Amino acid sequence: MRKGLILKLFAVWLAGIALVITTTVFFVRKSVLEPAKDKAVALAQVVESALTTLMVTNAMDKRYLLLEQIRFMEGVEDLRVIRGKAVIKQYGEGMEWEKPKYPIEKEVLTLGIPREELIETLDRVLYRVVLPYKAEPSPGVDCMKCHKVKPGEVLGAISITMDLTHYRNFGFLITGAISFVILSAGFLTFMYVRNNFKEVENFLSEVEKVFLSFERGKFSARINLSRLRDEFYELGKRINKVIQELDTTLKRIREKVYELIGYTLVESENEIRDTEKIIDELVRISHFKKTIELDATKEEVYKRIESVLSDYMSLDKFSIYEVSDDNTIEKVSVKGRETWCSENIFENADECRAKRTGQDVNSEEFACVCPNFVMCSSEEEKTYCYYCIPVHMGGRVGNVVQIVYEKELKDFVKLLIPYIKGYLSEASPVLESKRLMEQLKKQSYVDRLTGAFNRRFLEEVLDKILAQAQRRNSNIGVLMVDVDFFKQVNDTYGHDAGDAVLKQIADIIRKTIRKSDYLIRYGGEEFLVLLTDVKEGFAKEVAEKIRKKIEETPIVLPNGVTLKKTVSVGVAEFPKDCQGKFWQCVKFADVALYRAKEEGRNKVVKFKPEMWQKEEY
Ligand code: GH3
Ligand code: MG
Ligand code: MG
Repeated sequence: MRKGLILKLFAVWLAGIALVITTTVFFVRKSVLEPAKDKAVALAQVVESALTTLMVTNAMDKRYLLLEQIRFMEGVEDLRVIRGKAVIKQYGEGMEWEKPKYPIEKEVLTLGIPREELIETLDRVLYRVVLPYKAEPSPGVDCMKCHKVKPGEVLGAISITMDLTHYRNFGFLITGAISFVILSAGFLTFMYVRNNFKEVENFLSEVEKVFLSFERGKFSARINLSRLRDEFYELGKRINKVIQELDTTLKRIREKVYELIGYTLVESENEIRDTEKIIDELVRISHFKKTIELDATKEEVYKRIESVLSDYMSLDKFSIYEVSDDNTIEKVSVKGRETWCSENIFENADECRAKRTGQDVNSEEFACVCPNFVMCSSEEEKTYCYYCIPVHMGGRVGNVVQIVYEKELKDFVKLLIPYIKGYLSEASPVLESKRLMEQLKKQSYVDRLTGAFNRRFLEEVLDKILAQAQRRNSNIGVLMVDVDFFKQVNDTYGHDAGDAVLKQIADIIRKTIRKSDYLIRYGGEEFLVLLTDVKEGFAKEVAEKIRKKIEETPIVLPNGVTLKKTVSVGVAEFPKDCQGKFWQCVKFADVALYRAKEEGRNKVVKFKPEMWQKEEY
């Protein structure tokens, strides 16, 4: 743009100069030559009058003297009086210079009218004027007195040639001087415009640079003031100030947002887009937080995290793990495969690298960084990467979220990680409080001494247990376990020894039954065991196993004394033994227990209808 404009300006400037110089040359020439011509004409007229005077005073023979004198006047190149036909006829041809020499002289003699010519060569400029000398009677002068001519006839001509070369040179000098002045002024003007144009151009290019940066959402670019001057400098300074304020404001917004959400996000080149995205995300996370706070259970919170990962972030391979109090890991949600980690971690949470170290585990840093990734060392590992995030709660890792992705999604996942962490850091305190609540609730259902459930728990979950059994059409084994001669322990070794016995017997029972079964401390040294999904007739076998195990296992008292204890067990089966009335089954188990005690203790007795004759229990 700049080159084009300068060329145009230059062309206009050249045309202007040419016009000015042509006009100058024309007027200078006119103003120099015209007076010179007038001078020649005046001289010719003077010669004419002088000749007439000589003629009238009969001194015509002196005309050579006159002519010689005039011929020596400055600027006079030639002065001749030429004879016309009538004079030649009357007085002869005369001197050589009295004959016509130039064509215009002959023309004047023939036509009788004045003529002039300008002869310009490279080295000289001559001006010739030829005036006819006619036989015209004028007051006091009668040509016809001497000349035998008719009135009006051409007697001769006066031819004057003036040398105007120095006038032309003078004209050239003036034109040259004027042209020089005009050219210099023009050049200076051109340079001034060009320089000013450069200022405008510098300013525009700086503004363009800054705006280009704006378009990319960046506010770090500034107008380079060292390239600007005067008002452009001032304007640039003001623009810079506005950009600076905008930049600071945006930065401050982002900083505050990061402060608020407690983590920073990956920033792109585009600051506006980043700010917009951060605020969007902030609003979304804030909604997420409000929603999960209203969720009743941690399972609901897990569902929401799952939905964020799969629906909002379009991830289809991930795991959400929960680290249990007994340092095992439980799967909360696994997508894309049955499991992404080896069984090791589910038995020992410390096998999970993210849980053990409390740090993010990224397979991109080292291949196979966690040997428990299910595809580690397999061919598939080359296609799958994983990123595991530990979720801290109360100074320990409470959950681990594992993102599995194809290698080509690397950049996408890298961008997502900070957002995922954002959601998790919001979820973490909520999950912790829900876990604490659950723990508290669990504690209120658990007997502190033995770790078995208490009666309250039974009342709370009984309906669920029964419904489940009904749904599955399965039996529940109801076992009433009572320690034999327990009172003796208390009496012999003290209450603490009694407590230790109770605790160890509860442990033995817990280890003997399945995880899905329930151990309930029913009374002082009485335990109720509910065996879920037990095959008909099989409850007695389990009871026998318990009895045997206790009989075999030495019990260590706090004072170091080892003793062995036995239990008696009464067994009933729900629903068969009690027509679907659970509490009746409990009663019948107790009846069977009573029978076992009667029959000598360390015994299992299965309830039989004949043991209970009464209508009601
Ligand atoms: P049997 O073989 O007939 O069952 O005799 P037993 O001594 O085991 O039965 P008994 O019912 O006579 O005694 C139970 C005793 O258990 C009474 C009570 O002091 C004791 N006991 C109940 N709860 C606790 C407890 O929490 N800790 C301790 N150390 N003793 C308890
Ligand atoms: Mg008892
Ligand atoms: Mg007892």
